[in-house]
Amino acid sequence: MIVLHPASLWEKKKGNVVKCGLCERRCSIEEGRRGFCGMRVNQGGLLYTLSYGNLSALESRPIEIKPFYHFYPGSTALTLSTYSCNFPCPWCQNWHISKRVEEEGRFISPEEIIRTAMARDDGVCVSFTEPTLLYEYCLELFPLAKKTGLYTCMVSNGYMTEEALRGLKEAGLDAIKIDIKGTPQGYEKFLKADGMIPWRNARIARETGMHLEIVSLMVTNVNDDEEAVSWVIDQHIENAGVDVPLHFTRYFPAYRFHASPTEIEKMEWAYNEARKKGIRYVYLGNVPGHRYENTYCPSCGAVLITRYSFQVLSINIREGRCPNCGEHIPVIMKGGG
Ligand code: SF4
Repeated sequence: MIVLHPASLWEKKKGNVVKCGLCERRCSIEEGRRGFCGMRVNQGGLLYTLSYGNLSALESRPIEIKPFYHFYPGSTALTLSTYSCNFPCPWCQNWHISKRVEEEGRFISPEEIIRTAMARDDGVCVSFTEPTLLYEYCLELFPLAKKTGLYTCMVSNGYMTEEALRGLKEAGLDAIKIDIKGTPQGYEKFLKADGMIPWRNARIARETGMHLEIVSLMVTNVNDDEEAVSWVIDQHIENAGVDVPLHFTRYFPAYRFHASPTEIEKMEWAYNEARKKGIRYVYLGNVPGHRYENTYCPSCGAVLITRYSFQVLSINIREGRCPNCGEHIPVIMKGGG
């Protein structure tokens, strides 16, 4: 049975066509048809979402897995997702749910999410597939979370419209992780999308006071060459700023992409280049045990947070500062300490 929920952010055009304004694809959808993501449908000249409460996964996960490294380190977030996506990445690491339009997923209400999270988690996170597709649901979930003292975050490709991003912020979104897929040429070639939109949204996230982290999944032969990495670093400095963490994560073959996993040497080059150009907090991900999983003081080099994979082993920050040299360290922690 298809469960339809009225969609937000759309306008009616001539002849019962509707134009969706949730993401920058801005699909024009004829009556009886769906948008690019497959989760928004025009019925009788009105736009409905199939995503509302239609969840593909619900599990408690460490915040480091998102990855967020400067946002409540060591905490867990009750993490939920819907189906499908507005990006067609051929290397998708969550393809089993992102490439599926599911019309009969299990319905879970926002109230139930909050009750479950309050029993054991510090926050809620919308992730796995593109969270923007759960927009209408998030507008109800986030205010409930804030009322009960839970943090809220999203793991996104950053392709929502400005209106959608501001709407999420107003609803109570605390933090967003934006995935960068490479240069504008790569976006055009693989995704038929505008590669500057995620950077625009990174700027808006910062301006509106959200916590922001940027991730670049280094996909072999797609965006792992020096030119593409340098471009990402330069955009990060310009749009996110040198205090926003930049994660380079290792790709593994998935879905329709079979190139070998990212070479560690290339990831280390990216790390060193980003640090050399002035980004203060750079990380390598999906490389368990690598020293660049840790947080170092950008001023004196002291180890501040030690990690192994998604586990925090120790935190050595005192009242927001490096205990060795006193440098201010922008990490949001429980109790503000
Ligand atoms: S969310 Fe994006 S992809 Fe889906 S219908 Fe709206 S504009 Fe199209």
